[in-house]
Amino acid sequence: MKIIMLGAPGAGKGTQAKKIAEKYQIPHISTGDIFRANIKNGTELGKKAKTYMDQGLLVPDELVCDLVVDRLQQEDCKKGYILDGFPRTIPQAESLDAALCEIGASIDYAIDVEVPDENIVSRMGGRRACVGCGATYHLVYAPTKAEGICDSCGAELILRDDDKPETVQKRLDVYHEQTQPLIDFYSQKGVLKEVDGTMDMEDVFTAIIGILGA
Ligand code: ADP
Ligand code: ADP
Ligand code: ZN
Repeated sequence: MKIIMLGAPGAGKGTQAKKIAEKYQIPHISTGDIFRANIKNGTELGKKAKTYMDQGLLVPDELVCDLVVDRLQQEDCKKGYILDGFPRTIPQAESLDAALCEIGASIDYAIDVEVPDENIVSRMGGRRACVGCGATYHLVYAPTKAEGICDSCGAELILRDDDKPETVQKRLDVYHEQTQPLIDFYSQKGVLKEVDGTMDMEDVFTAIIGILGA
């Protein structure tokens, strides 16, 4: 099963992708997580990516596409995968298509998690990320047991630099301009599925299971 998650920043793609990966036993591939791991490890890629991410801009396609295509060739991707945060532009979607086409494969589902911009601002303002393992929480909707401490690894939680209000609006503008056209792109391929992302996390997941099959 090859799945893509679409939706605005903060719509809940990562939250749902983790649950899907667990239930269907397929790898969860998040380009945002890959970039953040590179930034943490001080790699060249991380240094380049950070300059764009901090401004709420997309990392250029040429830094993203090869990275993802290589990742999809790894052994664990044979039975499928869930892509979270990629593709984010039409050229990225075309490059993914070309890579899949070469091996006679295609995307099975593009799940669009729909959340209006008004709700996004509070989702992102309350999002907290673990500096140790990258787990995501929310001050109100997904709180940790002890305030400011990761439930899974005990490390400290932070507000991501790009989740600060001044960057959030920029990311939403970039989303509408560069990523939203993918909804039509996958609709034309007949694989688009839309879910109402304003529901509780569990209800969103139930809707997704309804699409993918139990
Ligand atoms: P994305 O990967 O699309 O950027 P996340 O999965 O990181 O989004 O979710 C953004 C924030 O909103 C996180 O703090 C997360 O805990 C919270 N969240 C995710 N889904 C929901 C939901 N259905 N209702 C309320 N809050 C949610
Ligand atoms: P969110 O889902 O909350 O927008 P992500 O973790 O997916 O956050 O992405 C964080 C940042 O990483 C993006 O704002 C962008 O700068 C960069 N990024 C992640 N994936 C891509 C991609 N496919 N193409 C370009 N930039 C990306
Ligand atoms: Zn952690």
